[in-house]
Amino acid sequence: MAFPGDLPHAMWKQAIEHYYWDRLAEAYEVASTQGAGHAGIYLSWFRMIEAEWLTRRDGQRTPVTDWLDLEFVPDDLGPVPVQDLAEVVVASCDEVAQRLGLPHGAKTLVTMLREEARAPWAIAPYGYCVDMHPYEKVCMPVHLLGNGPELRRTTRHEYAHVLTINASGGHAPRWLSEAVSVLMEGGRDRSTEREFYYGSAEWLPLDRLEQAFNAPDDRRRVWLAYRQAGLVGEYLALQYGESRLGDLLRAHAEGSFWKRLGAGFLGATHTDVAFRDVVGRSPGQVVADALEWLRSGRR
Ligand SMILES: [Zn+2]
Repeated sequence: MAFPGDLPHAMWKQAIEHYYWDRLAEAYEVASTQGAGHAGIYLSWFRMIEAEWLTRRDGQRTPVTDWLDLEFVPDDLGPVPVQDLAEVVVASCDEVAQRLGLPHGAKTLVTMLREEARAPWAIAPYGYCVDMHPYEKVCMPVHLLGNGPELRRTTRHEYAHVLTINASGGHAPRWLSEAVSVLMEGGRDRSTEREFYYGSAEWLPLDRLEQAFNAPDDRRRVWLAYRQAGLVGEYLALQYGESRLGDLLRAHAEGSFWKRLGAGFLGATHTDVAFRDVVGRSPGQVVADALEWLRSGRR
């Protein structure tokens, strides 16, 4: 098997470009043309491309609604009729759209990745969302079919990313996107909440929270970042209502350069303007407020 580490940078650019157009055969061909070498930073790219390509090669694609297609390998579904899978996925997406008050927008492809796929799953939930050129793509492992609640949770989490990308015009930062997704996913992690409460886990200020998602070698740090973002999402929803989160995302798309300039400080981000307009607090204040709420025991 080819190892991606030796591929020249230009070749990887080409493979990744194909990937973002969902041209998986081409992406895989380019990515696997070179000889053995060390893995390097491209290993996770290679695994993603490989996992998605195996599914494409052996699978089929079915339109489910005008905004959703489903891709799967029939043999992997076992006894589960594809209509059942489609119903669960659509109902989960509908729930998220309704709670956030956002319409289904751009076309989304949901791919159930082959059993043998070794995609680099992030910390649970075991799926990922990619903002591709032709559509948004959500990938989930097919083993979720054996666990209905987990399939619903993962679908809600990943589809919330799709709505976040579309509503915000791609301007929402990672921490906010995860705040919305973890909230939509649902569930509680009381032991981590206690750690934040007592301070044995650090409640990060915004800039460090954003960076913490990019620490693949530090699983605890990434895990805490998800949990903290989720608690901020929960605080926002309780304080202002879930549909205001949808407004907050939409306001990112409206944060034009001139509007940001008008906000009175040149360094204002789309997020600064959106928070000011929709909740009247800065994002940094909201993150601090959420800790205070958690510590007040009102949760
Ligand atoms: Zn996520």
